Amino acid sequence: MANGGPVEHGFPHLETVREAITALYKRLSYDTIQTFSGSVAPADVAFADTDDLHLGTQRVARELVRHYHLPDAHMIVGFREMEHAANIELAAGPEYFVELNDRFRTHRRDIGAALAHEIMHVYLHRLDLSFPGTRANEILTDTATTYLGAGWLLLDAYREDSASSQKLGYLTPEEFGYVLAKRALIFDEDPSIWFTSPQAYEAYTRGMAKARHDEQQPPLTAAGWAGRRRYARDRRHAQDHHSPTSHPGTAYSFTPDGRGPLRVSFPCPTCHQRIRVPVRGRVRARCGLCRTVLECDT
Ligand SMILES: [Zn+2]
Ligand SMILES: [Zn+2]
Repeated sequence: MANGGPVEHGFPHLETVREAITALYKRLSYDTIQTFSGSVAPADVAFADTDDLHLGTQRVARELVRHYHLPDAHMIVGFREMEHAANIELAAGPEYFVELNDRFRTHRRDIGAALAHEIMHVYLHRLDLSFPGTRANEILTDTATTYLGAGWLLLDAYREDSASSQKLGYLTPEEFGYVLAKRALIFDEDPSIWFTSPQAYEAYTRGMAKARHDEQQPPLTAAGWAGRRRYARDRRHAQDHHSPTSHPGTAYSFTPDGRGPLRVSFPCPTCHQRIRVPVRGRVRARCGLCRTVLECDT
């Protein structure tokens, strides 16, 4: 887990984040995702600087192991001077060695955040789910941590004032906010009440706006007027050309279907799997991967 450096903002990793959400649904299935409807509760990972360091760390680690449904995994956590924030050795288990940066000895309230990320590495390792390359794999890990209910800790560990800044993980604060918002939308949850960091709250608000934006793209009926107008123009173009067309700046594309009707494909606003429906006015579709019902005006 990375540590320090200037805090990056915005949505530079959005594409990989979305691929990670799709990959989670594919690997875990809708039913397993549903078993993560509850987030890690703040009280269960609370850690005061007066608590015993090692007992407290073991308690928080056990809580996260329980949350991720890894009953037989046993975390052995140590502290040492290191460049990174934290590190985990991925072996066969059931014992896993986690190293935390020495600074957590005096920043105990962020130990839960660091462990949430490291223990997710074990979860994904056991699922045999990974993305190629360290960077993409870490984005997958942060996305999975957040989508499955422990990532609000990582966003809450982001604090900034005139003198210093701190952020854990590879996603930007806004991207953590985005994944958290997508989770909040499917589970009807309000994670913002758990934040202790005002910056985390702001990032969540921006992430939520982005997540809502996903739900308002044509051909979904919730799309705004300008998007619908553009969509109608692009559809006319596709009908005239009889060849697959995609349109810069939009997520949908049209494909002719032999002599049948034109089809439009677009990403599911929940899981980002591509959906294909015939172009024939009002269509109700259900995403086969995440089961979201999509009201479309094609
Ligand atoms: Zn990592
Ligand atoms: Zn979906």
